[in-house]
Amino acid sequence: MSDFDVVVIGAGPGGYVAAIRCAQLGLKTACIDRWVGKNGKPAVGGTCLNVGCIPSKALLDSSERYEDMRQHAADHGIHTGDVSIDIEKMLARKDKIVSELTDGVSALFKSNKIVFHAGHGCLVAAGVVRVSSEDQDDQTLTARHVILASGSQPVQLPGMAVDNQTIFDSSGALDFPTVPKKLGIIGAGVIGLELGSVWRRLGAQVVILEAAESLLSSADAMIAREAKKQFSRQGLDIRLGCKVTQVDNTENGCTVHYVDGETNESIGVDRLIVAVGRRPCTDGLLDPNCGVTLDDHGAIPVNADCATTVPGVWAIGDAVRGPMLAHKASEEGIAVAERIAVGGSHMDHSTIPWVIYTHPEIAWVGATEDELKSQEIPYTAGLFPFAASGRAKAVGATDGFIKILAACDSDRILGAHMIGSQVSELINEAVLAMSMEASAEDLARTVHAHPTLAEAVHEAALAADGRAIHKVNR
Ligand code: FAD
Ligand code: NAD
Repeated sequence: MSDFDVVVIGAGPGGYVAAIRCAQLGLKTACIDRWVGKNGKPAVGGTCLNVGCIPSKALLDSSERYEDMRQHAADHGIHTGDVSIDIEKMLARKDKIVSELTDGVSALFKSNKIVFHAGHGCLVAAGVVRVSSEDQDDQTLTARHVILASGSQPVQLPGMAVDNQTIFDSSGALDFPTVPKKLGIIGAGVIGLELGSVWRRLGAQVVILEAAESLLSSADAMIAREAKKQFSRQGLDIRLGCKVTQVDNTENGCTVHYVDGETNESIGVDRLIVAVGRRPCTDGLLDPNCGVTLDDHGAIPVNADCATTVPGVWAIGDAVRGPMLAHKASEEGIAVAERIAVGGSHMDHSTIPWVIYTHPEIAWVGATEDELKSQEIPYTAGLFPFAASGRAKAVGATDGFIKILAACDSDRILGAHMIGSQVSELINEAVLAMSMEASAEDLARTVHAHPTLAEAVHEAALAADGRAIHKVNR
């Protein structure tokens, strides 16, 4: 008989959520994670809680309040005198939020009777996992099912070794002890834009070097253009089509050499963040004889149900195909737990939302206009600008717009694209509508509270039929 029904390797938002759902369904569950927190003790929560979603959003909030107070308090008749920021305190606030949340997950493990092992997990064979740690002899756990949820780690560039002194990865960039005077970032993806925004708002001059010719190529082109305009206006210096060739350390930082088109260029910066993507983290995870091998991208191959080719071995989250997002990892974790316990579950990969927490925020779900054009799907687009929303005016958030794309034949919503304040919240209405296969007319006939920013979603749905109330329809 096995020690456990399920052993989960990795306690990030994929693994810890899978473990909790397994336990809720009556499965005897263990979870293994090797993360060590800043206090030197094991910490659950993975990348998301420790060095990802949560700490980055804490810094985005602090820095946005600081900039808002400096730039906009006077608009409200509020006189503040000199506004200054205590970076040490800002970082301490972030660290407190992180430790409260990771402790919260540990408490959930205890209350759900999940056995936690601090250490490195390795799949030896189907149903057999070895746990190694510095403090204890290796242990072998047996289980009917194993869920691999080992997450991801930053991609490194050759010749640009991260030392977190001058050249930083995203984790190091959450802990700058002071505001750099000049900050270079390689990669204008989600991390480059979010962390670039944080340190720019706090006073750094930020230059982002992006290899691609266009910004945010997976976003809708109209949203990406608006984002570029807004970021440039704020002072983020985003240089597209720039290929970094070399980085040389200097006395006060480093010199970044790059090719812009045909021209060789270089800039000197105090600190440099490398944010060129993440890759699955699988070091020492799979014994060569365990039967699971990696694909060409270093990910664990799985089918639509997150099953590997070895019966009883599943894999979820950043370690497998699909977007590297916490909510995608968690939903896959829940679905796998339910498949193990009751033999079936459902997850709709076509309605996974993306959010970028810059100002303005950017969010989308479903198809872009370019994707619909290339698939020759006839659609209508309903557009509504926040400048025409009463609530947006009242809260000083008139930048941006919402766009809803609906099929010409069925009126079914095919995509929603948003840029503006609080669109991280508004996008969930579109996700729900799409998950329920709603039409633009369904959204248009839904009563929205007034005055709210969500009325812009309502108006965009009305605009898809050429009948928005608060704008001229063309
Ligand atoms: P992870 O969170 O990476 O967790 C994997 C866990 O497995 C880790 O704890 C690791 O220690 C453990 N592990 C790995 N191998 C082993 C092993 N062999 N033995 C034992 N333990 C092991 N996503 C969003 O959706 N929204 C955001 O706002 C967002 N912001 C982000 C900001 C930053 C700066 C970064 C870096 C990422 C951000 N992400 C965001 C992405 C998000 O963090 C990941 O998609 C998510 O954490 C993936 O969850 P996971 O459980 O698959 O893996
Ligand atoms: P990314 O894939 O979002 O962006 C990487 C960028 O770097 C791309 O634009 C790419 O063209 C560019 N690039 C790649 N190689 C380059 C080079 N040599 N020189 C210059 N540019 C180069 O990756 P990221 O920003 O590192 O983030 C990693 C992942 O973490 C994201 O894709 C996302 O899945 C997750 N994440 C999500 C959120 C969120 O949901 N808000 C926030 C942060 C991170």
